[in-house]
Amino acid sequence: MLENLHCHTKLCRHASGEPLDLGLAAVKGGARVLGISDHAALPDDRWTEVRMHFKDLGRYEAGIELARAQCPELRILKGFECEGVPEYFGYYQDELLGQRGFDYLIGAGHYIFLDGHWESAFSRLDSPKAMQVYTDQLVLMIESGLFAFIAHPDLFGCGFDHWSPELSACTRTIAQAAKDRNVPLEINGNGFRKQASGFYGAKPLYPWRPFWEEVAQVGCLVIVTADAHSPKELFEGLPQGQKLAKELGLVEANAASLGLLG
Ligand SMILES: [Zn+2]
Ligand SMILES: [Zn+2]
Repeated sequence: MLENLHCHTKLCRHASGEPLDLGLAAVKGGARVLGISDHAALPDDRWTEVRMHFKDLGRYEAGIELARAQCPELRILKGFECEGVPEYFGYYQDELLGQRGFDYLIGAGHYIFLDGHWESAFSRLDSPKAMQVYTDQLVLMIESGLFAFIAHPDLFGCGFDHWSPELSACTRTIAQAAKDRNVPLEINGNGFRKQASGFYGAKPLYPWRPFWEEVAQVGCLVIVTADAHSPKELFEGLPQGQKLAKELGLVEANAASLGLLG
């Protein structure tokens, strides 16, 4: 069944489309379930260059309500893609999943705490030390129980040129935690698009096949998403991700199996 639980809106200011545009694209594509998961607004407006302002949170929720009203045949889940920064875990639990009734949250490691600062994982996740920090962070996210799945766990493909025993060991630690807690790891369609753009050259990005080969050996669940940043990308990358999962014998989770349709 066609569905995508990872997409963004223009409120994060590096994507396009309102929730309604995504809803209409989902209906047109034949989906029955759509998860909208923009980059989470944070109460202190940290990192707003890549996420919505906190003052726009109400507008985001109203946009999702409008999409639900206009697309009654579609089940729209209200979500956010959240940073694995522990000081926000209370906000995620109490305000988002609690008071505001979010259906689910995605955990993502876009930033790593390195040498006393939060640094971009896209540019600084390129050393054994950073990899260990990242691994610990992902395990913490998985064990928090806050997140329905973990976005692009193999993001470190952007920083390393080739696979190594160290990357293998970290991957197994992440995958084992995911297996123990039944939290799927995401095969991310946006990574396929970035790779295809050629902008990053021949460097491996994500989804990075050796990572998923290790994951298959550990045997945790996976979930394939488009990580769409525009309505036209809503289902892009899903066939590629599903092909990868199938080739490696990975078991795919979905909204129903995650209990999100309750
Ligand atoms: Zn984004
Ligand atoms: Zn995303």
